[in-house]
Amino acid sequence: MSVVNTGNRQSGQYIRKLCRFADICRVQEKAMPQSHASFIQKVSTFGYHWADTRHPKSGKLIPAILEGRHIEMPTHGTSIEDHLAALDDLWQSIDPDAPSYTEYSSEDHPELYRRFANLPLVSEAVLEFVSTFGFLGVGHSITIIEDENPDGTKWGEYQTAEFANDWVRQIRMMQSSVNILDALDDILKPDTDALHKWFIYKESDWRVKAECLPGYKNQGKVEWVNLDCWTDDPNEFGSIPADDIIQVSTEFLRVLVTHQLEGRTSAMMIWDKNHTQTQLVHRPISLLGAMWVQFAGVLTRTNRFRSCAECGKVFELVRRDKAFCSEACQKRYGRKKAKRIQNT
Ligand SMILES: [Zn+2]
Repeated sequence: MSVVNTGNRQSGQYIRKLCRFADICRVQEKAMPQSHASFIQKVSTFGYHWADTRHPKSGKLIPAILEGRHIEMPTHGTSIEDHLAALDDLWQSIDPDAPSYTEYSSEDHPELYRRFANLPLVSEAVLEFVSTFGFLGVGHSITIIEDENPDGTKWGEYQTAEFANDWVRQIRMMQSSVNILDALDDILKPDTDALHKWFIYKESDWRVKAECLPGYKNQGKVEWVNLDCWTDDPNEFGSIPADDIIQVSTEFLRVLVTHQLEGRTSAMMIWDKNHTQTQLVHRPISLLGAMWVQFAGVLTRTNRFRSCAECGKVFELVRRDKAFCSEACQKRYGRKKAKRIQNT
């Protein structure tokens, strides 16, 4: 009994301490976003641009997105006067009082992961996306200028660059994941034909299209990757029967989302709305993390937004078994499906 009492007394003290801590938190919490899954993103008001940029690791020139507008300076050989005039024009066009960044919360765009998945792989579309929603959080720090002070110490100017290949890989991965997710849709009945485009059972192993896998080394050279080689746990895919495409797809999404959330969220304690209870949540720390949290929210049914299976419009789920934004869309979908069945 005495052990329990001591425990209670100790936890009593601890709770009192925690309450003091809570008072401090309450003040800070006001400035924080309400939803645990939201991420506050900063978007540069000076825009973004593409530039051929030297990759800090490979040393190769690769297109990358940089913050700020593209500055067209007079080419080599122009007079110093022309050069200074161009610089002057540039300064004139910059409003020194304008804020450098605007902010938004990822919860204002609960379907952003879908918009990202639908991005065409062309530089204009990617630039438009980054100009509206900001960097993904996959950037590398690159050196703009580096020099030595007279005393021998180094100084430099660095900027974040998000390379085209990272964007392409992330868009492709979201694209295939959304395709698999939609094909698994239990409201519209799983589309096993669509799933067979992503998974095959060969030589007593389940395989997946290589482009679905993050950071797979031979990407581009190998079309199908053995799922057992991808994960360390042989029980994850090894025990799935050859005819169970639904199970392999579901398990794949679970493992992939876990992988994609790694290092892109951080755990924290937050208060509920009434300050009566705290809960442990995982808050995204980058835009890419926020989009994968949205994706995970669809799997765990905490993301209450869905895009219409017919027209693609995003709507809030009131009932769980709704797949369409309107009755009109539901009918149109039904007519198309009937036609498809007739034709086959
Ligand atoms: Zn619709």
